[in-house]
Amino acid sequence: MRRVIIGLLAIIGLVTALAWLSRDRLGEIVFNRAVEANYGKDATAGLPDGLHVILCGTGSPLPDPGRSGPCTMVLAGKQLFLVDAGAGAGRRIGEIGVPLGKIDATFLTHFHSDHIDGLGEVLMLRWAASGRKLPMPVHGPQGVDKVVSGFDTAYTADYGYRIAHHGADIMPRSGAGARAFTIAPGNGPHVVYNRGGVKITAFTVKHDPVEPAVGYRFDYKGRSVVISGDTAPTRAVSRMCNGCDVLVHEVLNPAMVGKISATAKNHGDRRIAKIMSDIPGYHSSPVAVAGIAREGKARMLVFTHIVPRMPSRLLHPYFLRGVAQAYSGTVVMGEDGMRFSLPARSEAIEQAKLL
Ligand SMILES: [Zn+2]
Ligand SMILES: [Zn+2]
Repeated sequence: MRRVIIGLLAIIGLVTALAWLSRDRLGEIVFNRAVEANYGKDATAGLPDGLHVILCGTGSPLPDPGRSGPCTMVLAGKQLFLVDAGAGAGRRIGEIGVPLGKIDATFLTHFHSDHIDGLGEVLMLRWAASGRKLPMPVHGPQGVDKVVSGFDTAYTADYGYRIAHHGADIMPRSGAGARAFTIAPGNGPHVVYNRGGVKITAFTVKHDPVEPAVGYRFDYKGRSVVISGDTAPTRAVSRMCNGCDVLVHEVLNPAMVGKISATAKNHGDRRIAKIMSDIPGYHSSPVAVAGIAREGKARMLVFTHIVPRMPSRLLHPYFLRGVAQAYSGTVVMGEDGMRFSLPARSEAIEQAKLL
């Protein structure tokens, strides 16, 4: 018996030593297999015809390693749209496995930095990945042209470098950057995109002093999604939802943010105390959003733009206190990489995690 154990230990030792000595070769094999397996990965491939929502950023301006800045993708049939591009949006989209070259248009809800921080990265990655000859259409409220031209100015030198390095046939100059499309001002909801069976309606929300700020409703083959953008509780959202399949709504927990504010005050940090006491006024509490989802008869409520940072899911019950009493539908704390699929002409809402 003793001899068998010694023999086994010797074999294990020998195998370990061989593996250690050839670790570079093992690394090469693993790397090469991973490249082959992941090349051309497309998380949208094989999805049924319908409306699909992919969360590519469920965070806020507060840094959070687990959540990118605000970013929601909507795939409607074969058309792919992006709503807002917060910090890290481009790399999160890549990590999820959606080719950035497939994004047909971007819709911005407003111009708070956390909603546009990642736009330059998205535009550059899309251009490099697709070789498209036309720039990305970026729709947004009044002022979107300034945002787009600002990014264009910042990236002009790099456009030149990329073209010089890879050639104009690979990186056509005409496809670099974005082209702005301004949503006409006005309080009433209006259709801002209507093509290939996809209807996108913009509506004004309440995010003073940020004006204008809008949300979007997507309709495709009998399925619907409403994205609130940043807003204080407003009937505009419930009216737009009006029985929508999925309501993707921003959220801020005032008790939690209040605690941060009070702690900052106790430490004599007037600046953070003031900022933290200002922000709940132009965002929506979990219970208020639940009320909007109920009034709007949303079939599912997905929280995004989650404030404050949630370092653990164990905090979710506290974050969501009172929500179940206010809304009887399904409530989801959004996470980067979640997908909600609404197959055409059906009632189903299918959920998946892509990360
Ligand atoms: Zn905002
Ligand atoms: Zn925001």
